[in-house]
Amino acid sequence: MKSYQKLTRVKLNRNSKAWRDLVHDVYVRESGICQGCGKWLPENEAAAHHIKTYGSGGSDVIENLELVDKFCHVKIDSGELIKCIQCGGYVLRCGKCRNCGYQY
Ligand SMILES: [Zn+2]
Ligand SMILES: [Zn+2]
Repeated sequence: MKSYQKLTRVKLNRNSKAWRDLVHDVYVRESGICQGCGKWLPENEAAAHHIKTYGSGGSDVIENLELVDKFCHVKIDSGELIKCIQCGGYVLRCGKCRNCGYQY
């Protein structure tokens, strides 16, 4: 018998209450601050970005989600916003990191 148990991956229906609750929890955790640009956004505009996509093994769990606004979400998905190698925050591909000043 194999004792190893594969962790159940969670994928929620985007129209479900469970998903909305999860986005709400992400919103509260980040205090309404977009992780892409550092600006506050109203909760009805909140989007949750998957750090690890479902396709690459990520789940719909709070640890795998970051609060972003719709503009930053597009930029992250297109690769315009990247993770700062120095501080882990988001930074424009060609610019200065707003958190630590690292120049890209
Ligand atoms: Zn933003
Ligand atoms: Zn940085």
